[in-house]
Amino acid sequence: MNLALWLSRAGMSHPDMPAAALGTRVVARYGDLASRAARLAGALHKRFGLKPGDRVAVAAKNTPAYLELMYGIWHAGLAAVPANAKLHGVELGYILEHSGARVCFVSDGLDAAIAPHAPRSLERLIVIGGAQYATLFAEDAVEVAPRAPDDLAWLFYTSGTTGRPKGAMLTHRVLAAASQAYAMEVDPVTPSDAILHAAPMSHGSGLYIMAHVARLGVQVVPESGGFEPEEIFALFDAWPRASMFAAPTMIKRLVACGADCNAANIRTLIWGGAPMYVEDALAALDRFGPRLAQIYGQGESPMTITTLAKEDIADRANPRWRERLGSAGKPYACVEVKVADGGDRALPVGATGEILCRGEVVMLGYWRNEEATASSLRGGWLHTGDVGVFDAEGYLHLKDRSKDLIISGGSNIYPREVEEVLLTHAGVREVSVIGRPDREWGEVVVAYVVGDASTAELDALCLERIARFKRPKDYVFVDALPKNNYGKILKTELRAADDRRNVANFTSPRLRGEVDPPKL
Ligand code: AMP
Repeated sequence: MNLALWLSRAGMSHPDMPAAALGTRVVARYGDLASRAARLAGALHKRFGLKPGDRVAVAAKNTPAYLELMYGIWHAGLAAVPANAKLHGVELGYILEHSGARVCFVSDGLDAAIAPHAPRSLERLIVIGGAQYATLFAEDAVEVAPRAPDDLAWLFYTSGTTGRPKGAMLTHRVLAAASQAYAMEVDPVTPSDAILHAAPMSHGSGLYIMAHVARLGVQVVPESGGFEPEEIFALFDAWPRASMFAAPTMIKRLVACGADCNAANIRTLIWGGAPMYVEDALAALDRFGPRLAQIYGQGESPMTITTLAKEDIADRANPRWRERLGSAGKPYACVEVKVADGGDRALPVGATGEILCRGEVVMLGYWRNEEATASSLRGGWLHTGDVGVFDAEGYLHLKDRSKDLIISGGSNIYPREVEEVLLTHAGVREVSVIGRPDREWGEVVVAYVVGDASTAELDALCLERIARFKRPKDYVFVDALPKNNYGKILKTELRAADDRRNVANFTSPRLRGEVDPPKL
């Protein structure tokens, strides 16, 4: 079944209900939105000759237009390739080339960044809201294209461990299952409930679009297009029963915000995508009351592996409440989750291993990457790369990320990608990039460098090649890096050494014991 049917039905049954808003202003009702999606689908077929299965990219900042674009693409039977607008032109160029997208819709201004890196396969770069864009909606509406459950709907680009982004193939079935799981277990949606899109719609926040369309919710995009705590509070006051997905750093900023907010108006604040310190979860609970939920997932099983329910988070009377608060909750009904040893055998309660999952919400594989697909989905289980442990009550505690992924402000940063850029400097002999625990950002990027180069030169190099949020916040120049007998750099030792360096100025939450280990 095509996901686009949810919108076309809503357009028929409730044409006058608000569907999308910019700030406090309704900009589309369900009738308009469904009709615009159907006409855009017509244009994608007739004007551009796109055929079912073709990819169409959207490289845009958060905007209400995201909705007509995603639904227009699905309505036409095409696959959407949302790309984070914060990426560098080179990185966006790679995603466009790898996905083979024939058309790309971009935010005004981003076209100039992409144009020099656009691959040959890209036939059109269309500025959202521009003159050409407006003409697309003059086409006749077409019927929703039939789609099978395993047809591709969303190519979800995550960063690969080698630094190259990988496209997780999310099908109509996967997105329908994830949406149903959300509405059933995290946050029931009733008509006119709002969802605030402050996190990128190309990733975390975008995954909540469908459940709200299915249940006639209204999608609210802040006028700033991003996350400004005062603005979010004002929107919570303006929109009754609003929910929002936020990275833990965003929740922290909301807690710290001095502005007033009528918390009673909030339906649910969903955090996920990175670990949250227990103290921060407690502070959020004090400020917002029993309105918090946590989700644990990844692009490969979009936002749906385990969830810590609102009732668990608010259940202060429970003797295990604090421990549960430090966990990622229990598996969703629609997924099997196991903690496994190196041979993929399930480990007993209390034993630590890699987290594996399988079920309707797991991706089909990685786009054009058979090797990574075979390794990630071996034996029919998704290997998350995360390490965790189940407690006796079935709550999953995430211990660590198995690889060296850095999560800063909710965004994933793969050290190797940054290292490769730094190594292009003639004076850099060796480099190793690690994450340093940080109260505000979760982690910040730190580069350990052997060689002769100035911080300014290295920073300039990063600005040229990678997204700003991936740049190291600190450079440490050393004589040698810790290595094992095979000459491999030992990041674990480097992180420990970094902690020791920072204990002097007391900046490491790991050493202050603020990263709560699960008590089993
Ligand atoms: P992404 O594919 O960008 O969504 O990143 C997924 C990764 O973020 C997971 O594999 C985890 O390492 C981490 N992550 C996601 N949700 C949580 C959570 N609730 N707590 C801790 N880490 C998380």
